[in-house]
Amino acid sequence: MRDKLTPKAETALTNLEPRTSRVDETLKNELSKQGIFTTTLQELYNWGRTSSLWPLNFGLACCAIEMIATTMARYDLARFGAEVFRPSPRQADLMIVAGTVTKKMAPQVVRLYNQMPEPKYVISMGACAISGGPFKQGYNVLKGIDRYIPVDVYIPGCPPRPEALIDAFMSLQKKIDAQQLTGENRPRHLNAGEPSEFVVPSFGAHDLEPARNPAVWNAPLVQIAPLGQISQTGNDGTGKN
Ligand code: SF4
Repeated sequence: MRDKLTPKAETALTNLEPRTSRVDETLKNELSKQGIFTTTLQELYNWGRTSSLWPLNFGLACCAIEMIATTMARYDLARFGAEVFRPSPRQADLMIVAGTVTKKMAPQVVRLYNQMPEPKYVISMGACAISGGPFKQGYNVLKGIDRYIPVDVYIPGCPPRPEALIDAFMSLQKKIDAQQLTGENRPRHLNAGEPSEFVVPSFGAHDLEPARNPAVWNAPLVQIAPLGQISQTGNDGTGKN
């Protein structure tokens, strides 16, 4: 086989680093011209995950109508291999938190997340799911689902249009595609030290207890600036409270 390689492919093959995690692109291109398809386990694994994002079938409020519209003929979410909304968390990869998360519903959302197998992802869709939205000051609304579970992609808007949800899908696919399976930056589900289930809040005397999951969310730092101005810096740099 090697006798039939072009000089360019021969050079690329010679220069290939032993134990490299990625196939040299030049070599890959030259080999593909000769009908040889090469890939790595990491690319194959990431391709499988990006191409089969099956969402959990549930919605919480008006944003869910936009999510439903995304699956219909006009926007056709099936193009992303994601049309198979699953009725069971055991068969789902992706939780789309679409709508207002009331404090009555929050424990159920966290419980459903815990019941999903790894690898699993979360899209927080709309102002309500991100921060409480127009109901932020309400006594009965959670100020963001990221207080209890880790969120991969946030979609702003009230409501976000189907195009925004499709954009979030593509952002999540890019994120998965860039993940390394080994090393410091490997994804959460490949790190044995990272939890895959989080505390389910319950009702205490006055509010949900605990009020947040410190493993995924902490209150932003508040700094008193000169001249009496208050500036806020979020723990993730967003300034969100
Ligand atoms: S963000 Fe707006 S559209 Fe979405 S659930 Fe909240 S109020 Fe409804």
